Order: sequence, then structure tokens, then C-alpha cells
Amino acid sequence: MEFRDLKKQYSVLRQDIDRAIQETCAASAFIMGPQVRKLEQQLADYVGVRHCISCANGTDALTLALKAWGIGPGDAVFVPDFTFFSSAEVVSLEGATPIFVDVCEGTFNIDPEDLEHAVRQTLAEGRVTPKVIVAVDLFGLPADYARIREIADRYGLFILEDGAQGFGGSCNGRRACSFGDIATTSFFPAKPLGCYGDGGAVFTDNDEWAALIASYRVHGKGSDKYDNVRIGLNSRLDTIQAAILQVKFKAFKDFELDAVNAAAEKYTTLLRDIVATPVILEGYRSSWAQYTIRLQDSATRDALQASLKATGIPAMVYYPRPMHMQTAFAGLDTRTCPTATSLCERVLSLPMHPYLTEEDVEMVYNAIINSLK
Ligand SMILES: *Cc1c(COP(=O)(O)O)cnc(C)c1O
Repeated sequence: MEFRDLKKQYSVLRQDIDRAIQETCAASAFIMGPQVRKLEQQLADYVGVRHCISCANGTDALTLALKAWGIGPGDAVFVPDFTFFSSAEVVSLEGATPIFVDVCEGTFNIDPEDLEHAVRQTLAEGRVTPKVIVAVDLFGLPADYARIREIADRYGLFILEDGAQGFGGSCNGRRACSFGDIATTSFFPAKPLGCYGDGGAVFTDNDEWAALIASYRVHGKGSDKYDNVRIGLNSRLDTIQAAILQVKFKAFKDFELDAVNAAAEKYTTLLRDIVATPVILEGYRSSWAQYTIRLQDSATRDALQASLKATGIPAMVYYPRPMHMQTAFAGLDTRTCPTATSLCERVLSLPMHPYLTEEDVEMVYNAIINSLK
């Protein structure tokens, strides 16, 4: 069994993907070809925002957002303690200070109560100035934006939605990547919408920020390519990836997003009395970047992972270490985040992708029953 079956996906979409690649090669507009602009328009329409600016990867997408806001030394950026490294890495890369915030046990997303606590603490200490909240849509589920927005408004902060795993998720009919003042996603192959290499995108309704991000994306360009008005990056999405993404995006909308939700429902129906299953609150829909269960302790989790592996079922630990315990952040004066720290010891992500069959889910369920018995 595959953890995320990209080979199966390619076998289903092969004709269209091969054609898209061949057409791109024949036209040979490899950099910023017409497919790039077309994809950006399609993604902006789907998400429901004015601007989509594609870029080289999801990490650059976050960096571009911080650059558009001029975030740098002396600024505090609040980041969940339980996330992929990029969400916090980009903050330090810009010279700003990441402040880690605990997450909710059931949804894995940033805990609004601890967020407000962290903002007040930071203001009271007065060493760095609160500027941005990075809200991550972890494992495909949008964060609690109603409460995060209240806090952002109360303290005058921007919301940067890290939707690298969240693309396709929604809350009360509103789609992920539309909740942040700026939002980002990643097209890393294993993400809900992935390409065949690295890729990413930035979303916003703000015309001024969109123009800045488009400039930062291509060497801080001004009116033309050789007019450079600011220091930027080389962070374009390849035309060939945009062409592949158009095919994959159609499949994503037509059936893949429904298929992962059906697989998740099946997992939850079978597993809910046996282990702690993911919590999807009323009104929310996940795009299931991961299906992650919680065990009672690290020994149980590690034994289950090993036993699944022995029966040919890959299960992964996302994430084994909270941000505040990453070696790269050892110099920071960090907050303790007990829920995030505990989750790192107890979580286990099961095989999840749109081509997972009911039989596959039953096989994983049986293997879990056998192991926990
Ligand atoms: C994957 C990921 C990123 C980074 O995306 P890349 O395209 O790999 O640079 C950022 N944040 C989160 C939460 C991610 O899962």
C-alpha cells in the first residue's frame, strides 16, 4: 500500500498530463508561458479572491507575503508550535522573531486562547512588536478564522494563512486560501493539489500587495525586466508545472476532493471507538492532506507504526518535534506549548489519497485492531 499513491494518480490522468507536457515542450515558452497566467486565474476564481500569484514553492510563497508587508527585525510573528518547519523558518529568514503558540488537541490547529495569551505576553515584554499571525490549515483543515480574526483586529495584526496543506478545504462555504489577509499554498507533489516538482502560490484581495508580490517574485522588477526597484527573489512557477497543475486541478475539483472525504469518512466510521480520530467541527470541510489519529502515548504509537509497517502499511509521524524544540530555534527564548509537545508523541498519519479504496481502508482498520489488541 502507498501512503499517497501518486503513481496510481498518474496512471489515471496519464493521457491528459502527457499531452499537457508535450504541448508545453512544443511551444517552448518554459518561463511564464500562457499556462501560468491561466492557472493563476483559475485558482483565484476557485478560492474566491482577486489575485493569485504563482511562485516556485510554498516556502517562497510565505516569504513573498512577509516581504510585501515589510516584516523584519523587531517584528513578532505568531506561529503554531505544531506545523511544518517552513511556517516558522520564513519568519527568521526575514530577521523577524517567531513566537510559538500552542494548538488544539482535536483539530491540530492554532489555539485562539493561547494566541491571545502570547500576543499579550509579547506586548507586556516589549522586546518585539506583534505584526502577523501565521495560521496554518494543518492536515487540510482550515484554522478557526472567526476567532483568529477577532484577535487580529483587536491587536492590529495581519493574518497570513499558510494553506500549504489546506487547499480545497472550506468553512461555511468559504474556501481555504481566502481567510488570510494574504494566503499561501504549496504544490509539492504530496500536497492535496500537487505538481511534478516544486511549486506554490500566494492569494490576496489586496491590489497593492499583489503588485508587490509579483515584483518580489521576479528580482524586484519595476516597469520592465531590467528595471529593478527592490531586492527580490527568482521564484517563478515553471510553465510545465502550470500545465500539469491544470490537468490535476480539474481532477481535484471533479472527483479527488470528494474521494478523499469519502475515504476519511470511512476511516472515522471504523476507527472512532478505537482511537482518537480527527475532529472536523460543524461547517468545516478538510482536503485531507493527512488523516491523523491520536494514541494514548508514544509507546503505543510507536508500536502501532511498527506493526503496520510489518504488514506492509506505511504510517507516518507528522510531526515528531514541536517548533520550539527544533535545533535551529535553540537560541530563541521560546514559550512552552504542552499540547503541541504531547501531540508530537502520540500522532500517527495513515495512508490517505483520492485513490484509496474501501478495501484499503478496511485493511488498515483490521491491522490497527490486530495491533492494539
Ligand atoms: C509543505 C509545507 C510548506 C512548504 O511548502 P514547500 O512547497 O515544500 O516549500 C509550508 N507550510 C506547511 C504547513 C507545509 O506543509
